[in-house]
Amino acid sequence: MTNGIVYLVGAGPGDPSLITLRGVECLTRAEVVVYDYLANEQLLCHAPESAERIYAGKIGGRHNQGQDEINNLLVAKGKAGKVVVRLKGGDPFVFGRGGEECEALCEAGIPFEVVPGVTAAVGASAYSGIPLTHRDITASVAFVTGQEGKGKNESTIDWSRLSLGGGTVVFYMGITTLRRNMQRMMEHGRSPDTPVALVRWATTSCQQVLVGTLADIADRAEESGFKPPAVTIVGEVVALREKLQWFDTRPLCGKRIIVTRAAEQAGEFSAKLAALGATVLECPTIRLVEPENWQLLDLAIRDLPDYDWVVLTSGNAVRYFFQRMDTLGLDARALAGCRICAVGPKTADELRSLGIKPDLVPVDYKAEGIVDEFSRLDMHNTRVLFPRADKARDVIPRELKRMGAHVDSPVAYRNIFPERLPPETLFALEKRSVDCITFTSSSTVQNLAAMLGEELMLDMLKGVLIASIGPITSKTCRDLGLRVDIEPELYTLDALAEALEAHFA
Ligand code: SAH
Repeated sequence: MTNGIVYLVGAGPGDPSLITLRGVECLTRAEVVVYDYLANEQLLCHAPESAERIYAGKIGGRHNQGQDEINNLLVAKGKAGKVVVRLKGGDPFVFGRGGEECEALCEAGIPFEVVPGVTAAVGASAYSGIPLTHRDITASVAFVTGQEGKGKNESTIDWSRLSLGGGTVVFYMGITTLRRNMQRMMEHGRSPDTPVALVRWATTSCQQVLVGTLADIADRAEESGFKPPAVTIVGEVVALREKLQWFDTRPLCGKRIIVTRAAEQAGEFSAKLAALGATVLECPTIRLVEPENWQLLDLAIRDLPDYDWVVLTSGNAVRYFFQRMDTLGLDARALAGCRICAVGPKTADELRSLGIKPDLVPVDYKAEGIVDEFSRLDMHNTRVLFPRADKARDVIPRELKRMGAHVDSPVAYRNIFPERLPPETLFALEKRSVDCITFTSSSTVQNLAAMLGEELMLDMLKGVLIASIGPITSKTCRDLGLRVDIEPELYTLDALAEALEAHFA
């Protein structure tokens, strides 16, 4: 086998949306991904599930795997004919040892490609509001390692050139050696007043920025216990941050918010809070699973030609129903003789994406709306199939039966509450580092109580701000002994986001 190839892909500085399109393209084709500590793990979601994932992280000099081992691994996987993505933080060729990896591949005759990434200095510059160059301030910038190769006693960096001339200097890997390097720049003639910024975990929700001068930044870093990974930006341009900072001034910046999510709720609310700067900890309170057995649904699907109507009341019902048809070797044509009712526009869209135009979408997007529409038709002796969730309300079958219809309502999927919280969310609650929790329906409150146990929930939410979407959800909170701090006037997710913004303003 000789078709192996290795893509050295820059993962960008931290924010997972800062990878390039080309990088994502390579990941989607990967059979093996070898990734680093600094490459955001969320990026692995672009790789096929079947891809082998190998962590080759090196944490603060403790080499989990030596560079030689990594080189050998890439060569071996390439030789085995694999499509390999070597995912590296920032850019592969900026202090990333990408050069060495390419050399090893070259020698072994393995084809490779390099996909650039947003390097940490550039990410930190953008997200801290510090342009690295500026027409009126400086025309040059240097990227320098703060930690020259071990075993070298003499510095190969030309400190006087670096220090004089007024160019911006960005140190990588320079936090443990901060004092020495700042000292060297002053000794070689850079003014002690030169502004300096340390930017840690740039572009992520954990980004921290510490500003000082060449003379005092080391003391400040020590006092505040500033830790790697961070870049050190030295130069007059740092002063621009005061005017240009944007990332850390967003209204919910630094706030950690748990979003308890209902089944019907997409990620838009979380995305909205994240865009306002919050760190969102998602907490699904519902999990969808297959029915305990398929017997009744299978029977109904085999009998589809005998039904007059199929009623679908959620996108989930559509997905489970069609998946099951597919498993049974059928497709949309099996519905040729049936008319289709969708509860609302979202369900209708889901159907349209499968090539089906619903015949009926009620004006009022709920079960009562469907009943209302059917009450205008002659339902006597019609056969209606209503594939539903196990805990669905029984309004539709009850009322349609009353109109003389024969209704079958097999379970197409079940709503269960997840056994536990996502580990990240639980950990944040235990560490008391959560600022706010949002509840968007009564079931989100009830299910959280069931997942944690009421007593533990009350204890864990002590001191956490509670935001509820509206009066019914608030009542459920109070019934369980929770206080409600934020409730918008309108019962919508947008209004809830605005209320949070106003609260933290
Ligand atoms: N190839 C990488 C650099 C690897 S060297 C790149 O192009 O960015 C590791 C150093 O990069 C760290 O010590 C730190 O100085 C810097 N770094 C990487 N990610 C960073 C981040 N999100 N925020 C600040 N510095 C970062």
